[in-house]
Amino acid sequence: MKTSIKILIVAALAAVVVGALVLKNGSAPAESEPMTPTVAVVGAPGGALTQAVAATTARLPRLVDLGADKCIPCKMMKPILDEFQRDYADRFTTEFIDVWKNPAAGTQYGVEMIPTQIFFDAEGRELFRHVGFYGKEDILNKWQELGVMPGPGQSARIVREMPVAPDVRPRDQVCYLCDGDVNPKSKTVVKGQAEQRVLCSTHCYFIYFSSIVGADPKAEDAKVRVMDWADGTLLPACAATYLYGMDDAGRPTIKAFGTREAALEEQSSGSGNLVDWDLLRSKEMATRCAFCDRAVYPEDACRVRFGSAHGYGCCTHCAMGVAARLRQDIEVEAKDSFSGDSIRVKTMAGQVATLDPPTAVAWFGQKRNDEGQWVSAGCFKQGFFVNQDTLKQWLEMRPAMTGREIAIAQVLADKLKLSPEQIAKACKLGECQ
Ligand SMILES: [Zn+2]
Ligand SMILES: [Zn+2]
Repeated sequence: MKTSIKILIVAALAAVVVGALVLKNGSAPAESEPMTPTVAVVGAPGGALTQAVAATTARLPRLVDLGADKCIPCKMMKPILDEFQRDYADRFTTEFIDVWKNPAAGTQYGVEMIPTQIFFDAEGRELFRHVGFYGKEDILNKWQELGVMPGPGQSARIVREMPVAPDVRPRDQVCYLCDGDVNPKSKTVVKGQAEQRVLCSTHCYFIYFSSIVGADPKAEDAKVRVMDWADGTLLPACAATYLYGMDDAGRPTIKAFGTREAALEEQSSGSGNLVDWDLLRSKEMATRCAFCDRAVYPEDACRVRFGSAHGYGCCTHCAMGVAARLRQDIEVEAKDSFSGDSIRVKTMAGQVATLDPPTAVAWFGQKRNDEGQWVSAGCFKQGFFVNQDTLKQWLEMRPAMTGREIAIAQVLADKLKLSPEQIAKACKLGECQ
């Protein structure tokens, strides 16, 4: 008697809860898997309701673990489920349902003993179920058998801790910021604390400038020299005249000249407008990364939509960071760093809700700091790829690169862990973690 009353109360509550959900979203969830009112996606912040929506929105296979938070084998499942949520969120979603708190779900899934793990395909069809504690390797092997995880040898994420070949370029020919080759005609030199810093272009200088905490433009101006495009001598940046044009892709081109006459002569053989240093700065600083505030060209950036607005992430990881900075769901449109193919990511309630294509992965470029810890190698070393193959091809062209392949869901999770103070320092010179 007592039990049936309890179930009745839960069922009544469930009706209210589903009603509230429909109201909140303006319409019923589009994907028509049966809704379980108190489904919780493991290891995520936020309410169970929005997570239930996330779980039904994602077109991914699904692992559902039905248990109770007080049962011992169920407790042993918890860290495994958390790990799946963190490391394999691009392959399958992981859910935990407490059937003591939500007996209706136990009935719906036909569960008689806990813990029970049920494997569903992306269309919601049950593929397999297991009763009792189920270890991590067993579950991953089962997913492999079911064709969700790639076979042995393929599923391993790429890790490169040592460069395949060292970078042997002379230091004064490598851009301090982007690591690219320095074009001698557009070389820009900045006085650092102890050394001269060589940058490949004025554009990289403005990224550098926007990475200085509390920069005083006048004081910084005095430290910069640019190469005269015409005669190959370095001159103070604020004394130069700049020819500001566009390349075929709509990306700005900038040439510095010591005299107005030389700039006019170059202009007469092509196109572009003459601008001074202050105007050049305002153009360069007009578009900023919505996560780290660095200057960015939209042509180079990831597009990020949030609500009815949009902005840019200077790299793929910064683009995901916009969700952390704004504490809001976002939609990221990135390009495969190797093939240029489009990759779209939508977040919901702090998780990746859809990933297109579902095989897409991220590269986390890392290097060892002076204490030997792995730290981010900076925005220019990050990227998204439509699959592991294009990542491999990209890495082959970058023998000096170190870092690791991670799930795109992991990029989001890493950013969401940052405090507002850490976000304020993100990508700043001397502050990058
Ligand atoms: Zn550069
Ligand atoms: Zn950024």
